[in-house]
Amino acid sequence: MCAAPLLPLEDALRILAGAFPVPGTPEIRADRDDPALDLSSMDGAAMRSQDLAAPRRVLGTLFAGDDPATFRVEPGTCVRIMTGAALPPGADAVVPVEDLVQGPEGLSPAAPPLPGAHVRPRGSQARRGDLLLPAGAAPGAGRAGLLAQVGLPVPAPWRVRVGIVPTGDEITAHPAPHQIRDSNGPMLEALAHALGAEVVRLPPLPDRPEAVRDFLLGLGDLHILLTSGGVSAGDKDHLPRVLEELGARILFHKIRLKPGKPMLTALLDGRVILGLPGNPVSSYMNALLFLPVAMAGIQGRRAPDPWKEGRLAEAVRNPGDRPLLHPCQRDGKDLHPLASRGSADLVRLAQADAFAWVPEGGMEAGPTRYLDVL
Ligand code: AMP
Ligand code: MG
Repeated sequence: MCAAPLLPLEDALRILAGAFPVPGTPEIRADRDDPALDLSSMDGAAMRSQDLAAPRRVLGTLFAGDDPATFRVEPGTCVRIMTGAALPPGADAVVPVEDLVQGPEGLSPAAPPLPGAHVRPRGSQARRGDLLLPAGAAPGAGRAGLLAQVGLPVPAPWRVRVGIVPTGDEITAHPAPHQIRDSNGPMLEALAHALGAEVVRLPPLPDRPEAVRDFLLGLGDLHILLTSGGVSAGDKDHLPRVLEELGARILFHKIRLKPGKPMLTALLDGRVILGLPGNPVSSYMNALLFLPVAMAGIQGRRAPDPWKEGRLAEAVRNPGDRPLLHPCQRDGKDLHPLASRGSADLVRLAQADAFAWVPEGGMEAGPTRYLDVL
């Protein structure tokens, strides 16, 4: 019997990114002309272009925020003006400081100014009522600034709440030789924290289906749950079946990647479950790849592209049938492969700066893409 081909990583990332609705952000319209008056775009002097290169008597200075009606520029006069200040009545051009000459009869421009020179005209950015951003736009930093600019309330920024729960009867704080400590929990906490999440660490789950089920029914206000372990084909890998029994929407289970093949992703009651494999490097790798996508989806943002272009300094073998992410030390764009002992090799992960993409069949020294570790 021929097993179904495993899901390529790019497809898995696309499926997860596509599982989130368009954000419910409302449209933003201009509340007034932008700028609301003609503004100077330089530090210099506001003057009449009709006076050509003649010297002008200085009436005073206008700073950003000053009322421009304080002065009236008549023939033969000018007003010193700073960037962002509104043009005084009568002036139609700004001459920058570096093009001004101080003489006995006042300030002269080095050359006759053109009408509108160094002026941001009223309404040149937008007219009152113009649509500035459509409904459904990503709620990013630029949008927050725009809301403030048009005088609308800005929603307080919030962090995605990520729960982290290791699974496995072998996990204990004081291990006998047949047991282990939980290294995934602290590792995933550090990663989620670096990605800007609010992290909730949860105690290890035993390998009993009822325990897994009860836990999944009490996720409270978490947006994302990272589990580690219990998603492979072992007799005690209960997570896939329990999720199915609870009616979760399984987005995918198992991907074509080494390390990290057993990865499971599901939606349960509006929460994202990232079922990471138990082996530390697999667990880390899949969290590094999928957690940013899930966090961006929850917040209605586009996930940043984590891939960078670099050069493998030495060939890396990959005799397997899955693309490999291989730990490397990175010097600028040069990736120096570490001698990895596989998906349990936490030492190599701790030493690595980056993971290089090595397709099936291996890779000679030369260009490749890579992910930086966080
Ligand atoms: P599993 O996917 O549950 O079969 O686990 C795969 C391997 O990862 C096993 O050797 C586990 O003991 C190990 N493992 C699982 N959870 C953790 C953890 N939280 N920290 C370190 N190793 C783990
Ligand atoms: Mg396990």
